[in-house]
Amino acid sequence: MTTRIPNFINGEFVEPIGGNYLDNIEPATGKTYSLVADSGKEDVDLAVSAAEAAFPNWSRTPAADRSKILLRMADLIDRDLEKLARAESIDTGKPLTLARTLDIPRAASNFRFFATAILHTENEAHVTDGVAFNYTLRQPRGIAGLISPWNLPLYLLSWKIAPAIAVGNTAIAKPSELTPMTAFLLCEIAREASLPNGVLNVVHGTGPNVGAAITAHPKITTISFTGGTVTGKKVAEAAAPMFKKVSLELGGKNPNIIFADADLNAAIAGSVRSSFANQGQICLCGSRVFVERPVYKEFVDRFTRIASRLKVGDPLEETTDQGAIVNKAQLEKVKFYVDLAQKEGGKIAMGGKAPDAPNERCRDGYFFPPTVIVDLPVACRTNREEIFGPVITITPFDNEDEVIGYANDVEYGLSSSVWTQNLGRAHRVAEKINAGTVWVNCWLVRDLRVPFGGMKASGVGREGGEEALRFFTEPKNVCIAK
Ligand code: NAD
Repeated sequence: MTTRIPNFINGEFVEPIGGNYLDNIEPATGKTYSLVADSGKEDVDLAVSAAEAAFPNWSRTPAADRSKILLRMADLIDRDLEKLARAESIDTGKPLTLARTLDIPRAASNFRFFATAILHTENEAHVTDGVAFNYTLRQPRGIAGLISPWNLPLYLLSWKIAPAIAVGNTAIAKPSELTPMTAFLLCEIAREASLPNGVLNVVHGTGPNVGAAITAHPKITTISFTGGTVTGKKVAEAAAPMFKKVSLELGGKNPNIIFADADLNAAIAGSVRSSFANQGQICLCGSRVFVERPVYKEFVDRFTRIASRLKVGDPLEETTDQGAIVNKAQLEKVKFYVDLAQKEGGKIAMGGKAPDAPNERCRDGYFFPPTVIVDLPVACRTNREEIFGPVITITPFDNEDEVIGYANDVEYGLSSSVWTQNLGRAHRVAEKINAGTVWVNCWLVRDLRVPFGGMKASGVGREGGEEALRFFTEPKNVCIAK
């Protein structure tokens, strides 16, 4: 029987009020493998009532007790690693090996990190010229609306849920309707960990129905959104008139810069990963590769030789490097950009055509191989618009200033990678690139304490570590006269 994914409200799994469900399609097979609640405003209202009722007790629960519950959730994610990784692989089309080693362990780390962070916070105090004494109370804000995308479903949702509830808020989470399964399993974990009813509520459904109802609800005063830039604008527009506190983590078109003095072996291996991990469907993937001219040809030759060995296959097979694209629409988008790139003068150095189905099970799946496009003008659409798939461009450059200009000449500013052995250059370039994260000689290295987020059209606000604890709390100054 097909699994039905209901909502999770007030500690119970409940049917959507309208009784409707959407097909949840497995990208690797193109077939419906579960049904997900197609909720609406009334379901959000129900979740708000539960979250509102739970807030007084949860916000007054001692940090040490909240911490214990979150740590239990982290332990249960670890215990269920294999089950969660399989669910995530089926839901998203990503290789099971990636879900097992990256997404799910990072989701557990998110809970563990914020569970312990709240035990070590400090409150600021300021003495004012012998006249007064000020201290800052950081209090939970109430109900947080947490909206996440499909590419790293549990990892990104837990990145929001963990800090929001750790500091004493209650939450209404909305996973992407394309990938709801791990959020459903997380609700089972929350119950087993004895998270009090109503602290975490999950309402499934589409963006226009559920996401918009969350952003529009006057009692949801904090919104943390991760997704595309176009949707981010809608969220910002809906939230602004109500003066909600909003964090937006949006799209990217990240530059990956290889200087001629780089350790080329490391730069090539790192670039293959940053180009194609999760089929290129990570907001942080380096989709524009710039290579200094003296090593350009060698880089392209060696990069394409190594990347062409990546095995596109059934995500559930252990030897698969590249799984399926998340859905048909996304696959069509990828193909559109490959065609556009050629119209814009680009040449396909590798990939470019949908491969044969990896096996009978995946006959109708959405597969596309790692694809490299060269010889494109820097300022064309393919080089400026987010594709969010396994398609990258490689472009030569002649000097530092030129490549910094290229790097910054897009509307986005999420992340970047710089490969060089010249320390002075690394600092110089890092300072000049307009992006929220600059990795030097690495990619996707994560430290949960650092601020994370984008500049320009890649977002507003920062998540991660102290930033997240601050985002989900309201600072209140108490000024006491002497
Ligand atoms: P999306 O914007 O289509 O959807 C994201 C979420 O928003 C989904 O849950 C969706 O249902 C919901 N939504 C849609 N319309 C809405 C509305 N009007 N109001 C409120 N919510 C609405 O994005 P996607 O296709 O799921 O994800 C891919 C995008 O996410 C890419 O652009 C990628 O770069 C970005 N992303 C960014 C980060 C980051 O940290 N900056 C991380 C991962 C993905």
